[in-house]
Amino acid sequence: MNKYVIMGVQGSGKGTQAKILAKDFDLVHISVGDLFRWNIQNHTKLGARVKRTVAAGELVTDEVVAEIVGRRLSQHDWNYGFILDGFPRNGAQAEFFLESYDIDAVINIDVPYEIVMHRVLSRRYCSRCGLDYNLFLHRPEVANTCDVCGGELVSRQDDTEEAIRSRLDDFHEKTRPVLDIFARKELIVTVDGTQSIDEVQQSIRQQLHLPAQESGHN
Ligand code: AMP
Repeated sequence: MNKYVIMGVQGSGKGTQAKILAKDFDLVHISVGDLFRWNIQNHTKLGARVKRTVAAGELVTDEVVAEIVGRRLSQHDWNYGFILDGFPRNGAQAEFFLESYDIDAVINIDVPYEIVMHRVLSRRYCSRCGLDYNLFLHRPEVANTCDVCGGELVSRQDDTEEAIRSRLDDFHEKTRPVLDIFARKELIVTVDGTQSIDEVQQSIRQQLHLPAQESGHN
């Protein structure tokens, strides 16, 4: 069983890399941001509690995060392991997590500030089927329209310059200590996230001693 945490600022490509690893190694991909967005879209009680915080790009309280992560992991549908994306995001969350779970490695994707800002402002997703786009790297054939289902492409509500700045500041202030905690346990592998998707994936696998990817992500 493989249990990983993937870390990096928004737009570092951690979600993309997590999905590839999850698919190829049968890991359950647990994205805390996706869990919140699902709850918001489906108007659950939890969604109502976190809606404003998520829209502002601020961090949800540790108590709520512990609840949602605990609930998700207690489903025990991760026979081959899991990859946690977007958690832990501060020292308290890391400590709480390490009390109950051990992990094999933390994958840290490193991307400079200016590149991240540019990437995040150009990302879109299909409002109907959820497919991800990037106006520079993965452009739709017809502007603002999903290639697969014809749905309208929209930006995440929290992908504004102000919200991104707030999330980047949060990352540097609060998430760095998490890296320090894991580094003490010698669990971190750091990869250069400015490379192509396939190159980033290969370097993650090399460092984790996992079998190489047979073909690219497409
Ligand atoms: P993400 O998709 O990882 O960018 O997460 C979207 C939003 O969900 C964040 O801006 C936070 O508001 C909230 N969120 C996700 N993960 C956490 C976490 N571990 N702690 C607190 N808030 C979180």
